[in-house]
Amino acid sequence: MSVNTNITKKERDCIVSIWQGSRSGFPVRVSTIAEAMKVKPPTVEELLERLESKKLIERSKGMVILSEDGKRVYRRIMLGHRALETFLVQCGDDADKACEMISNFDYMIDEHTASLVLNRLGNPSECPHGRPILEN
Ligand SMILES: [Zn+2]
Repeated sequence: MSVNTNITKKERDCIVSIWQGSRSGFPVRVSTIAEAMKVKPPTVEELLERLESKKLIERSKGMVILSEDGKRVYRRIMLGHRALETFLVQCGDDADKACEMISNFDYMIDEHTASLVLNRLGNPSECPHGRPILEN
């Protein structure tokens, strides 16, 4: 399956929240995602149904995890996000402002474009926030 799955901004935010919420190694609950996204649980339920039909998440007993494809999509989002973020900060933009702005379209950036930007930047390993360009 192509990792350039078509997703919406809300689905992107949901994927990022699931990843961040489960960094401790445990699956996240709908309420945790709703809180992180600042939306109501029914909205999250709706998003999860869409992500589930795209096979990007798996659910069991109210807990949510990213599927292998979901993780690939997350890594692709972050690759584009951190490539452009690094570029804008090198241009003199504020890191937090760049981060917020890029979050609006990072999910549309394909790996090829991200790697072109990273090549031009000399293949940095970390973004301006010290996070790895390539997530494990
Ligand atoms: Zn960022």
